[in-house]
Amino acid sequence: MPKHSPLSPSGAECWLTCPLAAWWPLHSGRAEDPKPSVPALRGTVLHALTTVCLDNGLRDVLELPAAVLPDSPECDAVNTVLRAAWSIIDKTGGEWHTEQNYQCVGPIYGTADLTIVSGQHLVVVDYKFGKTKVSPIRNKQLGLYAIGAAKTFGITPTRIDLYILQPSANWPVVPWQADIGWIKELYNDVNTTLKNAQHGDKPEPISGRHCYFCPVKAAGKCPAHNEGQTYSEGVPLSIQDFDDLDVD
Ligand code: SF4
Repeated sequence: MPKHSPLSPSGAECWLTCPLAAWWPLHSGRAEDPKPSVPALRGTVLHALTTVCLDNGLRDVLELPAAVLPDSPECDAVNTVLRAAWSIIDKTGGEWHTEQNYQCVGPIYGTADLTIVSGQHLVVVDYKFGKTKVSPIRNKQLGLYAIGAAKTFGITPTRIDLYILQPSANWPVVPWQADIGWIKELYNDVNTTLKNAQHGDKPEPISGRHCYFCPVKAAGKCPAHNEGQTYSEGVPLSIQDFDDLDVD
Protein backbone atom coordinates (compact mmCIF):
# COMPACT_ATOMS: atom_id res chain seq x y z
CA MET A 1 0.00 0.00 0.00
CA PRO A 2 1.51 3.40 -0.91
CA LYS A 3 2.30 5.74 1.98
CA HIS A 4 -0.57 8.10 1.16
CA SER A 5 -4.10 7.51 -0.04
CA PRO A 6 -4.62 9.52 -3.27
CA LEU A 7 -7.68 11.08 -1.65
CA SER A 8 -7.43 11.19 2.12
CA PRO A 9 -10.39 10.69 4.47
CA SER A 10 -9.27 13.82 6.36
CA GLY A 11 -9.68 15.84 3.14
CA ALA A 12 -13.08 14.34 2.23
CA GLU A 13 -14.97 17.55 2.97
CA CYS A 14 -12.83 19.23 0.32
CA TRP A 15 -12.76 16.64 -2.48
CA LEU A 16 -16.43 15.71 -2.06
CA THR A 17 -17.35 19.36 -2.61
CA CYS A 18 -14.93 20.44 -5.34
CA PRO A 19 -14.59 18.15 -8.41
CA LEU A 20 -11.11 19.50 -9.22
CA ALA A 21 -9.87 18.57 -5.74
CA ALA A 22 -10.99 14.97 -6.45
CA TRP A 23 -9.77 14.87 -10.07
CA TRP A 24 -6.30 16.37 -9.74
CA PRO A 25 -4.69 13.90 -7.28
CA LEU A 26 -5.95 10.94 -9.35
CA HIS A 27 -4.53 12.31 -12.62
CA SER A 28 -1.46 14.25 -11.58
CA GLY A 29 -0.34 12.37 -8.51
CA ARG A 30 -1.19 13.46 -5.03
CA ALA A 31 0.33 16.82 -4.23
CA GLU A 32 3.56 16.50 -2.29
CA ASP A 33 2.84 16.96 1.38
CA PRO A 34 4.31 20.26 2.49
CA LYS A 35 6.96 20.10 5.21
CA PRO A 36 4.92 19.58 8.39
CA SER A 37 4.39 22.68 10.48
CA VAL A 38 5.28 22.78 14.18
CA PRO A 39 1.58 22.38 15.20
CA ALA A 40 1.26 19.40 12.82
CA LEU A 41 4.38 17.75 14.27
CA ARG A 42 3.11 18.45 17.79
CA GLY A 43 -0.16 16.72 16.91
CA THR A 44 1.74 13.70 15.55
CA VAL A 45 3.80 13.39 18.73
CA LEU A 46 0.74 13.70 21.00
CA HIS A 47 -1.19 11.16 18.92
CA ALA A 48 1.70 8.73 19.27
CA LEU A 49 1.94 9.33 23.00
CA THR A 50 -1.78 8.67 23.45
CA THR A 51 -1.52 5.43 21.46
CA VAL A 52 1.51 4.26 23.48
CA CYS A 53 -0.47 4.80 26.70
CA LEU A 54 -3.58 2.98 25.45
CA ASP A 55 -1.59 0.08 24.00
CA ASN A 56 0.24 -0.36 27.32
CA GLY A 57 -2.89 -0.07 29.46
CA LEU A 58 -1.80 3.24 31.01
CA ARG A 59 -4.53 5.58 32.19
CA ASP A 60 -2.21 8.50 32.92
CA VAL A 61 0.65 9.65 30.71
CA LEU A 62 2.73 10.36 33.83
CA GLU A 63 3.05 6.58 34.30
CA LEU A 64 5.57 6.74 31.45
CA PRO A 65 9.24 7.40 32.31
CA ALA A 66 9.79 11.15 32.80
CA ALA A 67 12.61 11.09 30.26
CA VAL A 68 10.18 10.49 27.37
CA LEU A 69 7.58 13.05 28.42
CA PRO A 70 6.99 16.48 26.87
CA ASP A 71 6.06 19.60 28.87
CA SER A 72 3.23 19.56 31.35
CA PRO A 73 0.55 21.27 29.16
CA GLU A 74 1.16 18.61 26.51
CA CYS A 75 0.82 15.85 29.12
CA ASP A 76 -2.44 17.46 30.27
CA ALA A 77 -3.76 17.38 26.70
CA VAL A 78 -2.84 13.70 26.31
CA ASN A 79 -4.42 12.87 29.68
CA THR A 80 -7.65 14.63 28.70
CA VAL A 81 -7.81 12.44 25.60
CA LEU A 82 -6.78 9.32 27.54
CA ARG A 83 -9.47 9.81 30.17
CA ALA A 84 -12.13 10.19 27.50
CA ALA A 85 -10.78 7.27 25.43
CA TRP A 86 -10.70 4.88 28.41
CA SER A 87 -14.18 5.94 29.46
CA ILE A 88 -15.52 5.19 25.96
CA ILE A 89 -13.67 1.84 25.89
CA ASP A 90 -14.98 0.88 29.35
CA LYS A 91 -18.52 1.98 28.54
CA THR A 92 -18.71 0.27 25.14
CA GLY A 93 -17.02 -3.04 25.94
CA GLY A 94 -16.06 -5.29 23.05
CA GLU A 95 -12.69 -5.22 21.32
CA TRP A 96 -10.73 -2.09 20.58
CA HIS A 97 -7.99 -1.18 18.14
CA THR A 98 -5.57 1.75 17.98
CA GLU A 99 -4.10 3.18 14.78
CA GLN A 100 -5.97 0.75 12.56
CA ASN A 101 -5.57 1.27 8.82
CA TYR A 102 -8.78 0.87 6.80
CA GLN A 103 -9.46 0.49 3.12
CA CYS A 104 -12.52 2.72 3.02
CA VAL A 105 -13.93 3.04 -0.53
CA GLY A 106 -12.02 2.17 -3.73
CA PRO A 107 -8.45 3.53 -3.50
CA ILE A 108 -9.22 5.57 -0.38
CA TYR A 109 -7.69 4.40 2.87
CA GLY A 110 -6.79 5.95 6.17
CA THR A 111 -5.89 5.30 9.79
CA ALA A 112 -8.41 5.69 12.60
CA ASP A 113 -6.98 6.64 16.00
CA LEU A 114 -9.28 4.33 17.97
CA THR A 115 -12.00 1.91 16.88
CA ILE A 116 -14.23 -0.15 19.16
CA VAL A 117 -16.37 -3.03 17.95
CA SER A 118 -18.97 -4.49 20.27
CA GLY A 119 -21.26 -6.84 18.37
CA GLN A 120 -22.90 -4.68 15.70
CA HIS A 121 -22.07 -1.49 17.61
CA LEU A 122 -19.18 0.39 16.01
CA VAL A 123 -17.39 3.34 17.62
CA VAL A 124 -14.86 5.49 15.76
CA VAL A 125 -12.75 7.97 17.72
CA ASP A 126 -10.43 10.65 16.38
CA TYR A 127 -8.09 12.81 18.46
CA LYS A 128 -7.49 16.41 17.48
CA PHE A 129 -4.78 18.36 19.24
CA GLY A 130 -5.24 21.53 17.18
CA LYS A 131 -7.18 24.60 18.25
CA THR A 132 -9.64 24.69 15.33
CA LYS A 133 -12.77 23.06 16.66
CA VAL A 134 -13.89 20.01 14.74
CA SER A 135 -17.34 18.54 15.07
CA PRO A 136 -18.18 14.82 14.88
CA ILE A 137 -21.55 15.68 13.33
CA ARG A 138 -21.71 14.35 9.77
CA ASN A 139 -17.92 14.20 9.88
CA LYS A 140 -16.93 12.61 6.58
CA GLN A 141 -13.46 11.57 7.73
CA LEU A 142 -14.94 9.52 10.57
CA GLY A 143 -17.77 8.28 8.33
CA LEU A 144 -15.18 6.90 5.89
CA TYR A 145 -13.31 5.17 8.71
CA ALA A 146 -16.63 3.65 9.85
CA ILE A 147 -17.21 2.27 6.32
CA GLY A 148 -13.67 0.83 6.28
CA ALA A 149 -13.99 -0.63 9.80
CA ALA A 150 -17.32 -2.31 9.01
CA LYS A 151 -15.70 -3.99 5.99
CA THR A 152 -12.55 -4.97 7.89
CA PHE A 153 -14.44 -6.54 10.80
CA GLY A 154 -17.17 -8.02 8.59
CA ILE A 155 -20.06 -6.42 10.47
CA THR A 156 -23.24 -4.63 9.45
CA PRO A 157 -23.44 -2.04 12.20
CA THR A 158 -26.81 -1.21 13.69
CA ARG A 159 -25.29 1.66 15.66
CA ILE A 160 -22.30 3.85 14.81
CA ASP A 161 -20.94 6.45 17.25
CA LEU A 162 -18.46 9.05 16.05
CA TYR A 163 -16.32 10.91 18.58
CA ILE A 164 -13.83 13.74 18.29
CA LEU A 165 -11.62 14.07 21.36
CA GLN A 166 -10.17 17.54 21.36
CA PRO A 167 -8.69 18.96 24.56
CA SER A 168 -8.77 22.55 23.31
CA ALA A 169 -12.45 22.39 22.31
CA ASN A 170 -13.69 22.28 25.89
CA TRP A 171 -17.04 20.60 25.34
CA PRO A 172 -18.54 17.44 26.86
CA VAL A 173 -17.33 14.21 25.33
CA VAL A 174 -20.43 13.01 23.53
CA PRO A 175 -20.68 11.08 20.29
CA TRP A 176 -22.67 11.88 17.25
CA GLN A 177 -24.77 8.76 16.73
CA ALA A 178 -24.46 8.53 12.98
CA ASP A 179 -27.58 8.04 10.97
CA ILE A 180 -27.02 4.77 9.05
CA GLY A 181 -28.78 6.39 6.07
CA TRP A 182 -26.17 9.18 6.13
CA ILE A 183 -23.36 6.59 6.06
CA LYS A 184 -24.96 4.92 3.01
CA GLU A 185 -25.35 8.31 1.33
CA LEU A 186 -21.69 9.09 2.04
CA TYR A 187 -20.65 5.76 0.52
CA ASN A 188 -22.69 6.50 -2.63
CA ASP A 189 -21.38 10.09 -2.86
CA VAL A 190 -17.80 8.89 -2.61
CA ASN A 191 -18.36 6.25 -5.30
CA THR A 192 -19.95 8.80 -7.65
CA THR A 193 -17.16 11.31 -7.01
CA LEU A 194 -14.51 8.66 -7.66
CA LYS A 195 -16.20 7.55 -10.90
CA ASN A 196 -16.43 11.13 -12.18
CA ALA A 197 -12.87 11.91 -11.12
CA GLN A 198 -11.41 8.75 -12.63
CA HIS A 199 -13.22 8.86 -15.96
CA GLY A 200 -14.26 12.48 -16.55
CA ASP A 201 -12.42 15.39 -18.16
CA LYS A 202 -10.66 17.94 -15.98
CA PRO A 203 -13.49 19.73 -14.14
CA GLU A 204 -13.88 23.32 -13.08
CA PRO A 205 -13.06 24.10 -9.44
CA ILE A 206 -15.78 24.96 -6.95
CA SER A 207 -14.40 27.17 -4.23
CA GLY A 208 -15.58 27.84 -0.72
CA ARG A 209 -14.63 27.24 2.89
CA HIS A 210 -13.65 23.65 2.02
CA CYS A 211 -10.61 25.16 0.20
CA TYR A 212 -8.92 25.84 3.51
CA PHE A 213 -6.73 22.71 3.62
CA CYS A 214 -6.84 21.81 -0.09
CA PRO A 215 -3.63 20.08 -1.30
CA VAL A 216 -4.27 21.22 -4.90
CA LYS A 217 -4.18 24.81 -3.70
CA ALA A 218 -1.05 24.08 -1.67
CA ALA A 219 0.61 22.69 -4.82
CA GLY A 220 -0.27 25.87 -6.74
CA LYS A 221 -2.43 23.91 -9.21
CA CYS A 222 -5.83 25.48 -8.59
CA PRO A 223 -6.70 28.19 -11.14
CA ALA A 224 -9.42 29.62 -8.88
CA HIS A 225 -6.96 30.02 -6.04
CA ASN A 226 -4.28 31.41 -8.31
CA GLU A 227 -6.79 34.08 -9.39
CA GLY A 228 -7.52 34.88 -5.75
CA GLN A 229 -10.99 33.33 -5.73
CA THR A 230 -10.62 30.82 -2.91
CA TYR A 231 -10.51 30.99 0.83
CA SER A 232 -6.88 30.93 1.86
CA GLU A 233 -7.60 32.33 5.26
CA GLY A 234 -10.55 32.55 7.55
CA VAL A 235 -12.69 29.89 9.12
CA PRO A 236 -12.37 26.32 7.88
CA LEU A 237 -15.50 24.32 7.20
CA SER A 238 -14.95 22.00 10.14
CA ILE A 239 -16.37 24.52 12.57
CA GLN A 240 -20.00 23.60 12.94
CA ASP A 241 -22.82 24.12 15.30
CA PHE A 242 -22.46 21.73 18.23
CA ASP A 243 -26.05 22.20 19.39
CA ASP A 244 -27.07 19.02 17.55
CA LEU A 245 -25.14 16.87 20.01
CA ASP A 246 -27.31 15.26 22.66
CA VAL A 247 -25.74 15.50 26.07
CA ASP A 248 -27.21 13.01 28.53
S1 SF4 B 1 -8.55 25.31 -3.67
FE1 SF4 B 1 -9.28 25.00 -5.76
S2 SF4 B 1 -9.15 22.82 -6.14
FE2 SF4 B 1 -9.02 23.15 -3.93
S3 SF4 B 1 -11.12 22.94 -3.20
FE3 SF4 B 1 -10.76 25.09 -3.57
S4 SF4 B 1 -11.45 25.47 -5.65
FE4 SF4 B 1 -11.21 23.25 -5.42
